[in-house]
Amino acid sequence: MKLHTRILFALANCSLSIAAGLWSLDSSCEKWSDQIKVGVHEALDLATNAWQVMEDHANEDQVKAMSKLLLTNRAGDNYESNFNAAKATFANLKAITREPGNFAARSDMRNTIFYCDDARFDKAYLGGPDWRETIRDFLVLEKNTATLKNCYDIGQKKTDLTKMTTKVPKHFDEAGWRAALQKDRTTKRAGFEAATDYSCSIDVCPWFIEKFAAQGFPKIDKDRIEWALELQNTGAELPPNTGALKNYPKRYFDFMKTFTSTVLHELTHTTQGGELVDYSQPLCYDWDCCVSIKQPTNSDTISILAMVLKMWTLGYYVDRDGDIYKLAES
Ligand SMILES: [Zn+2]
Repeated sequence: MKLHTRILFALANCSLSIAAGLWSLDSSCEKWSDQIKVGVHEALDLATNAWQVMEDHANEDQVKAMSKLLLTNRAGDNYESNFNAAKATFANLKAITREPGNFAARSDMRNTIFYCDDARFDKAYLGGPDWRETIRDFLVLEKNTATLKNCYDIGQKKTDLTKMTTKVPKHFDEAGWRAALQKDRTTKRAGFEAATDYSCSIDVCPWFIEKFAAQGFPKIDKDRIEWALELQNTGAELPPNTGALKNYPKRYFDFMKTFTSTVLHELTHTTQGGELVDYSQPLCYDWDCCVSIKQPTNSDTISILAMVLKMWTLGYYVDRDGDIYKLAES
């Protein structure tokens, strides 16, 4: 084969391997494997639908209105770049292989393994407050250990429980970062992180999966929308937000959230999903916070955008206040 053909062939292979992230279920998820698979499939479908709507219907009134609510500052001057950033995230997510794959925990950061228990952690590591993950040989710092306890060992706490939690397996040069901090207090951690060949992980908290099992794992479909609309039309009481989120009231749209919307949220935290973050103070979840901060790099913003674009596909839209409306039939 001619040299330039060979190069093109190599490039084509390379771009294929960059595009696809694999996922798998750890044996700890056996009891829920069917449901998690359905959840991942629906999450990938939501990402695919969102990308397609943004590709084909970006100028439809309600698509534009909802995208602007979630992505654009008051002046509207960052609409295009934020819209494209969100669309790129959906492109990365829809590239994830649909069926579970076979790969080792030590393979590639673009891969993700779902876990459903805490058996892989050394919980008495050096007798300190930190856990150590034995499979990927990571120290889980105290703050993240608390998140895992809040997922698996929920006897200690009854509210604001962790639903799922994602770990990107970067190596962090803490000593180097601390030394740099001495010279410059504004030094960012990101400059001291390095890629590894471990997979990302998503811990699925048992209490959360059981909650949705009791509801029969509702999908983000017409039935779910009509159910939320019924709550809205009858003026059902919205649960108060507590803690740091108390300035962001719950909205009727928030009833739309499901097991799958959280799977999608977590997938945006993975390397394949672009390593998006939860904007903090408060952690920015749900409608009211996401339309306030308008950030395409906030995980819940992307999950919510996928949900409302699915609702648009089904003939509905959501306004600034998180109220749901049926689109007029023409
Ligand atoms: Zn998150």
